[in-house]
Amino acid sequence: MKFIVVTGGVVSGIGKGITTASIGRLLSARDIEVTAIKIDPYINVDAGTMNPFQHGEVFVTEDGVETDLDLGHYERFMGVTLSGSHNITTGKIYQRVIRKERRGEYLGETVQVIPHVTDEIKSWIRNVGRASGAEVVLVEIGGTVGDIEGMPFYEAVRQLQLEEGRENVMFVHLTYVPYLKHTEELKTKPTQHSVKELRSLGIQPDAIVCRCEYPLSESVRRKIALHTNVPKRAVIDAHDTDLVYKVPLMFEEQGFGEYICERLGLDGGEPDHSDWEEFIERIESAEEEVRIAVVGKYVDLPDAYISIREALVHAGAEAGVRVEIDWVDAEELEAGCSEAWERLQEADGVLVPGGFGKRGVEGKIEAIRYAREEEVPFLGICLGFQLAVVEYARSEAGMEGAHSTEFNPDTPHPVIDLLPEQRGVEEKGGTMRLGAEPVVLEEGSLIRELYGKEVVLERHRHRYEVNPEYIHRLEEHGLRFTGRSPDGRMEVLELPDHPYFVGTQYHPEFKSRPGQPSPPFLGLVNAARER
Ligand code: GLN
Repeated sequence: MKFIVVTGGVVSGIGKGITTASIGRLLSARDIEVTAIKIDPYINVDAGTMNPFQHGEVFVTEDGVETDLDLGHYERFMGVTLSGSHNITTGKIYQRVIRKERRGEYLGETVQVIPHVTDEIKSWIRNVGRASGAEVVLVEIGGTVGDIEGMPFYEAVRQLQLEEGRENVMFVHLTYVPYLKHTEELKTKPTQHSVKELRSLGIQPDAIVCRCEYPLSESVRRKIALHTNVPKRAVIDAHDTDLVYKVPLMFEEQGFGEYICERLGLDGGEPDHSDWEEFIERIESAEEEVRIAVVGKYVDLPDAYISIREALVHAGAEAGVRVEIDWVDAEELEAGCSEAWERLQEADGVLVPGGFGKRGVEGKIEAIRYAREEEVPFLGICLGFQLAVVEYARSEAGMEGAHSTEFNPDTPHPVIDLLPEQRGVEEKGGTMRLGAEPVVLEEGSLIRELYGKEVVLERHRHRYEVNPEYIHRLEEHGLRFTGRSPDGRMEVLELPDHPYFVGTQYHPEFKSRPGQPSPPFLGLVNAARER
């Protein structure tokens, strides 16, 4: 097993996840089996309890763990399916260490960061690597070098190299190279400093990936190489691009794939990026534009809906159209803001994604009513699905004041109610209905046609569901539930007399990939295009 550790410096949020995923792509294009682990040094056990405003979307794995959004990048770029153990946090590590200590497994020793915590980190990384059967394990450390929380992890990967041998562990450091307008130059000093910081922890990077607004010149490359002690060919330019999927190709052109193979003694053949290139080509050659309004609460931070955005890109590529996303704030719709309403009306399709909390809920319901009445293609996901039920109950099934008990516990018509097994659940972390569950699609339905199969496995993350007591009444008034879990929960809704009105209790966005778009998304984009 070989390891590539990706660290970051200067500032966070410059695309370490995309860099790691792109390195993974370089290897998988050479038929090298690769997997990836994301380390998040925060103390939360998982991302499930974190506000999307701060950390972006919570990505749900097949096995039902709420993880960092970088796992989404890994799955999309590397074509792998990862389990929740591919996201390590300080919370998870300490939970284990403390459990062992309480069981007396340390036999009287003083339990310390070195070696006990670092041993736990290394063994987690190795176990995940082994279980995946991959030849190369990518390990991305979140945050930037120098963060206090990150220290045990940097120390652990330093030890990993010592134990596994230099030939089996390489370090890639991602930095930011700012461009100074008034002197018109790229500045390398922050990179020099962050590498110095990394070396003070005993880690000498083997490659420096430079995020920058403009391509690196030869002289800048030379300077970075000299100061950071890496070969010039290992100073990699990662300048801004309009499409993240181009990053692996940008790396390939600079010989990064070859360099990695050499450095780790990997026997990869010629890289084959043809599928990837074709996918990009489809996006770039699309002439027709389709506007999709995504009506949500976290619209100021599109990272909060990253898998939704990517799923729309994948669907657009497949349909041969360019998807323009208009992020519409549900609260503004609720407040009757005319500018927000105009934007909604200009859209060819409306998507209401998942969410929690009361804010903006009525705005989402109004957007759904608009899409239903005006026959605008609509896709509702999770909360969007639930609110479509609420809207239909109120407007078409004569249930005034119908609501989800999440937002109004005293509603006269609780059409959406807590899942029975959620009653009595007090802890918030990791206690929802989570992960992949089978959904049985009804013969003759639109959703069945879209997927082209009877049973699909899709990922869930919810506490509420359609209240079984109202199913009959809703169906009598024309709403159709066309997907159910094997134990009879409502999973999909559609409206037969509408060009495209689909809701899913599950989150189809998590499984969408370049070249394999998620069927409900493709259905939405195709219907929007017809409009
Ligand atoms: N808040 C809703 C529930 O818990 C919807 C969740 C979601 O959209 N992910 O069921």
